Amino acid sequence: SASIAADPAHSLAAEATGLLARLGVPPEKLKAGSLEVRSPIDGSLLARLQTHTVADVQAAIERAHRAFLSWREVPAPRRGELVRLLGEELRAHKSELGRLVSLEAGKILQEGLGEVQEMIDICDFAVGLSRQLYGLTIATERPGHAMRESWHPLGAVGIISAFNFPVAVWSWNAALALVAGDSVIWKPSEKTPLTALATQALFERAAERFGTAPDGLSELIVGNRTVGEVLVDDRRVPLVSATGSTQMGRAVGQRLAARFARALLELGGNNGMIVCPSADLDLAVRAILFAAVGTAGQRCTTLRRLFIHQSLYQPLIDRLVRAYDAVSVGNPLEAPTLVGPLIDRDAFERMQQALSDARAEGGTVIGGERLLADRYPDAYYVRPALALMPAQSAVVRRETFAPILYVLSYGELSEAIHLHNDVPQGLSSSIFTTDLREAERFLSATGSDCGIANVNIGPSGAEIGGAFGGEKETGGGRESGSDAWKTYMRRATNTINYSHELPLAQGIQFAI
Ligand code: NAD
Repeated sequence: SASIAADPAHSLAAEATGLLARLGVPPEKLKAGSLEVRSPIDGSLLARLQTHTVADVQAAIERAHRAFLSWREVPAPRRGELVRLLGEELRAHKSELGRLVSLEAGKILQEGLGEVQEMIDICDFAVGLSRQLYGLTIATERPGHAMRESWHPLGAVGIISAFNFPVAVWSWNAALALVAGDSVIWKPSEKTPLTALATQALFERAAERFGTAPDGLSELIVGNRTVGEVLVDDRRVPLVSATGSTQMGRAVGQRLAARFARALLELGGNNGMIVCPSADLDLAVRAILFAAVGTAGQRCTTLRRLFIHQSLYQPLIDRLVRAYDAVSVGNPLEAPTLVGPLIDRDAFERMQQALSDARAEGGTVIGGERLLADRYPDAYYVRPALALMPAQSAVVRRETFAPILYVLSYGELSEAIHLHNDVPQGLSSSIFTTDLREAERFLSATGSDCGIANVNIGPSGAEIGGAFGGEKETGGGRESGSDAWKTYMRRATNTINYSHELPLAQGIQFAI
């Protein structure tokens, strides 16, 4: 009716309920509990969910542990078949799930869909992997012996995820864990549980089609850090993959270390780009814009620090100021929008604090103000900010999860690389240059110290085929492609004697 259309709060909740129903989550589940889920688009209430208790979490862990005990015996290519079916469900429901990501996390529609595409891609990757999971044959010093390395399923894997990639992070972990023979227990961000319910429903459809998946193979627990901590502390969970702030990772990492569990940590970034004198500036401007303002600066790989050679400094700033002026900020469901809202008021306040710190540290700030407050009094839209800094001061060295790009100039490449690496985080990095020597130096052992280092593309938007993660306070974990699967399995070294002798290693004689 006209009155519903005129009431955007009502229409977002209604739309989310409809999308969830199509994805397999019944409306009754959305009004039962105390966890309020709000859309960052207008701040309206989308649902109230029931949260899990400590006892619920322990029961979920027990189910997942039991599921692991039988799943590990299923041949890996057959496990891959389940992940193939999950990929099919995601393909069939890409538009609904992508739109729900936009509603719940505030990403523009293209990025919501892109996130689901990433889930599909990692499923494809994992299906292929399910016929590989290669071990090694190793030369042995003893005659009549063989030595090899095998990979076995590990156990129930805990997955703690952040609001900004509400569903892709689960799939990067779950697709690999499931083909590896593990079960998974997911604790999504308390800010984005609806997309998690939808993903779980799609998994359950795939499991039903598969026919013989054990109960508890994929468990979902809803709640805040308290339920996350139960997962972190439970001995039946040998690996926890945790994505979020460095503060969270420091807490989780220490608790896991205390019980000798494996930690896969994907934490904050403070990603930089160096623009050299030979750079193709047309490419650089586009790359900077996407990497710095895309997802409203709320990607772990968002470009936050820009080092411009002094010979290009003013012309590049002028171009960036023009490009920033042209960026449309607004409702992420509407077509021209490139930058949607921040996740919530806290994020807005942290951004304003960082901009005020930047000014106090001698910076000049362009942009950064709140927009659309009249239309959306309960949502937080901002103009992305450029902060021209005299030095890499304290505010530049910390991650503020908002669209602020700190800009510095440099004279020598070695100075730029030094500054680039002189921060606590080490996730992603890039250089723009057409000089082979500069590019290779940036990628070398004395170049960028990050887990991801790129040439002539920005630091954000990684493909699933490579290992994803970073060094230092980013946590050291690697997810997704390359050999990241090894983290989800345990390695066994086997020595087999097929001779009639018993030669000892290291030439030891031990005769009786
Ligand atoms: P957050 O740290 O506030 O929360 C992340 C998750 O951890 C949530 O599910 C939360 O409930 C849980 N959590 C928090 N403290 C916990 C504890 N002590 N024990 C167990 N669980 C706990 O992060 P956020 O605001 O949702 O996300 C933004 C942050 O995530 C940024 O720092 C960003 O860089 C980072 N991030 C990193 C990557 C990566 O791959 N490196 C990817 C996405 C986001």
